[in-house]
Amino acid sequence: MFFTASIRPACIPPLQPAHLLQTSYPATTPPFFETVSTALQISDCESLTLGWRFQNRSKGSAVCSQIYACKTDVEAFLAKLKITPCPHCKKTGFLIKHGSLIGFVPNKLGDPVRAARAVRVFCSNRHLAIGCGRTFSLWTANRIKHLFLCADSLWQFLSNAADSGNKIQAFRLLKCSLGDSTAYRIWRRFLGAQVAIRTALNALCEPPRIESNSPAHLTLAHLAKAFREHTLSPIAAFAATLQTFFI
Ligand SMILES: [Zn+2]
Repeated sequence: MFFTASIRPACIPPLQPAHLLQTSYPATTPPFFETVSTALQISDCESLTLGWRFQNRSKGSAVCSQIYACKTDVEAFLAKLKITPCPHCKKTGFLIKHGSLIGFVPNKLGDPVRAARAVRVFCSNRHLAIGCGRTFSLWTANRIKHLFLCADSLWQFLSNAADSGNKIQAFRLLKCSLGDSTAYRIWRRFLGAQVAIRTALNALCEPPRIESNSPAHLTLAHLAKAFREHTLSPIAAFAATLQTFFI
């Protein structure tokens, strides 16, 4: 005698409108459902001209950031949020300010203090908004991602270290509260970024003709030449002009 196993139907939740099923936490989580957008959309070519810079992460989606010369430019961008298209989904009207990226920055004495390092903007998918739910950040050129030092101090350290050949001494001149081993970590990070830096600088101008056996010295001389007429320090000018972090 054979018995046929009865299959119990799975519990299927009742269908709901797509905008009610969208969960929005955490803010970087993409929406579950593709909603039909009636919002204004722009082409990819237009988004490129807006100067957005995407960086691929090892896991997950690309992160997006934009670097401005000063805080005034960041505030000017924030004032136009509602008429600015999202760099991810290209929809307009759903961007909102979404807090700040908090980290440590040096005060006048060189001691670390907690402060806002960048502003985060959210493409809202909450309530009735149909944005993509992703975020992006707005930086000023004097801040460098994942680095305590500001761009001016970093330029001072790198140029002194390249000239003197003594990294510890050059780092102590900054009078910040970090340990001496930080000087070597930052120097290694700079050496690792040199290929990308020199490739970017070659698009701006030819390297200067100086006699030196040090690749780091040549890179810094090339950087100084490329931005010698800029009002910002060379590293901050590099970030604001090329929309990428120096190291
Ligand atoms: Zn979006």
